[in-house]
Amino acid sequence: MDYGLILSSLLIAGCAELTRVDRPASFHGAASAGVLDDGYEDYAGVIHIHTTYSHDAMGTFEEAVRVANAQRLDYLVITEHNTLQPLRDGKQGWHGATLVLIGMEISTRGGHYLALNVTEEIDRFKLTTQQIIDEVNRQGGVGFIAHPYFKKGRWKDWTVTRFTGIEGYNVAHDTLDENKLRLALWTISAPAEPFYLSILDRPYDPLAKWDELIRRHGRIVGIGASDAHEFHLFGLTFAPYTIMFQLSRTHLLIQGPLTPEKAYDALRAGHAYFSIELLAEAKGFSLTADNGKRVLGIMGDEVLLEPDLRLTAWLPAPAQLSLFKDGQLIATTTNQAWHVPITEPGAYRLEAARHDKPWIFSNPIYVRPAPPPPPSTPPDNSGLAQPDASPETTQPPNTSEQPGAGADAAMQPPK
Ligand SMILES: [Zn+2]
Ligand SMILES: [Zn+2]
Repeated sequence: MDYGLILSSLLIAGCAELTRVDRPASFHGAASAGVLDDGYEDYAGVIHIHTTYSHDAMGTFEEAVRVANAQRLDYLVITEHNTLQPLRDGKQGWHGATLVLIGMEISTRGGHYLALNVTEEIDRFKLTTQQIIDEVNRQGGVGFIAHPYFKKGRWKDWTVTRFTGIEGYNVAHDTLDENKLRLALWTISAPAEPFYLSILDRPYDPLAKWDELIRRHGRIVGIGASDAHEFHLFGLTFAPYTIMFQLSRTHLLIQGPLTPEKAYDALRAGHAYFSIELLAEAKGFSLTADNGKRVLGIMGDEVLLEPDLRLTAWLPAPAQLSLFKDGQLIATTTNQAWHVPITEPGAYRLEAARHDKPWIFSNPIYVRPAPPPPPSTPPDNSGLAQPDASPETTQPPNTSEQPGAGADAAMQPPK
């Protein structure tokens, strides 16, 4: 048993009674703020959960489902260590109003890898990390690098390719990497809420790595992970699902009703954002690319640069907003709605904080260069080579003629 895990969980258990979740805010103001309807539903769930199927967790599958039902979660993704036994036991499917999906967490040589939508177990001893990633893909699955900077299970192989994404936030990483003495002092001296807020950190290293991977691979999906390992000691419950399921959620954006196929499609496409919902629920957050008349794309989508292109964010409540382009902070504001003109290609993602604590992390919208304009003269049919007219030599349009980002009064320079 991990002593650090016990200590952190003691703290978490001690705070359970005082935790509260605000009611989601009203969304009536969205239309008047110029926010267009993107046609997607927001399904909130928790990814990366361990139960008694794993050697290091004591919470039962039934307990996890009971808590998910009580918290009105739309879905759960159970990922036991190196086994799909819950799938064979028929656990996947609807349990009340919660869709339970069964994946697995594979201990590869390069680190822990979440494999979702797989039906055959994978021989982690025989295969390399890249071969395991490829095998997940071959089965039609989606895969995520787990807790990349967790001290006891750091991801080591950054040469891999073809993985779906990475955990941008992992609760276990956040809590267990705290200074143990500080945690112990907090246990005996501090009230619950300041304690919780004190251990919530913006996950700098995973986010920086995510940005780096996007630059290198073109697009990478980010998710939040609970890594819940509820366990029991001396008749008490530690790291309870009730708390762990509020500390990290991933929201999937889906058109129509939730199904397993649509959930995996949303994860594959990055139609998702993740959130820390200890103090306020995030459901209803949206980030779109639009031109003021219609929505051109949502989180995870690629859109072409065009005149009047802008990003529009809408939140359930006012928050401190930070916009990142290719990993660099380019604008901040404090508001519930935000329109930002976009004049350059890049991967744009948004973070929201409340009371200086992290709340919401969007997946990027990928703005790609506009295609080159068609040649102004018709092609020559004489059969002679015309290198000057070849499309390869045509330059993209000059974006400086498009509206400048400084035109939006709501936009402020970064701090
Ligand atoms: Zn792990
Ligand atoms: Zn895990």
